[in-house]
Amino acid sequence: MHKPIKYVEKALTYVARAAWFVFERLNRIRPNPSFTPKWSDRPLLKSYEKVKPPLGWPRTTDSLCPKCVPEIRQQILDGKLPVDILREEPVGQIKAQIIERDGKIWMVKDCPKHGHFEDLISIDPEFTRHLEQAYPGSDIRAHNDERLHNHGSSTIKYGRGAVLTIDLTNRCNMMCDPCFMDANQVGFVHELSWEDIKKLLDDAITLKPKRQLSVQFSGGEPTLSPYFLDAIRYARKLGYNSVQAATNGIEFAKSPEFARAAAEAGLRYVYLQFDGIGNAANAHRRVGNLF
Ligand code: SF4
Repeated sequence: MHKPIKYVEKALTYVARAAWFVFERLNRIRPNPSFTPKWSDRPLLKSYEKVKPPLGWPRTTDSLCPKCVPEIRQQILDGKLPVDILREEPVGQIKAQIIERDGKIWMVKDCPKHGHFEDLISIDPEFTRHLEQAYPGSDIRAHNDERLHNHGSSTIKYGRGAVLTIDLTNRCNMMCDPCFMDANQVGFVHELSWEDIKKLLDDAITLKPKRQLSVQFSGGEPTLSPYFLDAIRYARKLGYNSVQAATNGIEFAKSPEFARAAAEAGLRYVYLQFDGIGNAANAHRRVGNLF
């Protein structure tokens, strides 16, 4: 038995839904023109103009064969296939079924070459249903993006911008186990030149709609890049108003001057990871006296 207030809340929810349904239908009769915000060249969509992909289950969806993809990647690296094939052909793509079985949601798929695959998507179908129902529909179609969003069937179509992560270098002053980037563990250095960094920042700022776009400099350890401070300064100059760094913090801890210089360049905040309090909780990184 729920508390009486819960029944009141439920009733209010139904009333609000019904009122919105009526209001929205009336609004379609003589709709006011949509507002065009300054971060978009196109007007905001009315809620009834937003579209949703097929949701619910069972349903058919597009997926990838987990064995075809690395094989194709290797053939591209070996020079046996052109990289453009990723844009021009649906390589590795297969159809998949989303189904509910034994109280769980599964993706099942068959590759003509590699056979049958099953992936567990959810152990709570009700919660997944709730998440899908909460999806409000597509946003304004991305525009000003013809040059950049050109990735075949993987082309980004919607979104107002969120976080642009730029990995400045795969070097690091630590050697954690595990490291999400295998920093210092792959036998080669991959580091962006100043031209690379500038191009990424210049290109991304042109995309619309772009309500907010933060830049996160990451790595490896981004503070080791010789362009770290210049990249922050340039990003702020272009108009990115939130510039952050995903860092282990060592360079800032070693040198208050360096921390001050980063703040003066325009760094808004740093993003640190702690696996717990004390050295024991961080011992799995195999870096002595880390905490
Ligand atoms: S500090 Fe981060 S980037 Fe560096 S080795 Fe550890 S996990 Fe990798």
